[in-house]
Amino acid sequence: MSERAAPFHCPYCGDEDLRPHEQGHGTWECGACNRAFQLKFLGLLARGLRRADNGGDDRI
Ligand SMILES: [Zn+2]
Repeated sequence: MSERAAPFHCPYCGDEDLRPHEQGHGTWECGACNRAFQLKFLGLLARGLRRADNGGDDRI
């Protein structure tokens, strides 16, 4: 399977105890806060991958 979109941290509590959920593709569950969530790829951005923040990482 091509399960590449693996999150490293729970988007709700920030814990790393993530495991694949049983409900199918792109679903994950967090062992710390017992939340289940789904990652979904929406598509590529037409404007590219430039960072919008002014954090000094302005390489082009
Ligand atoms: Zn969590």
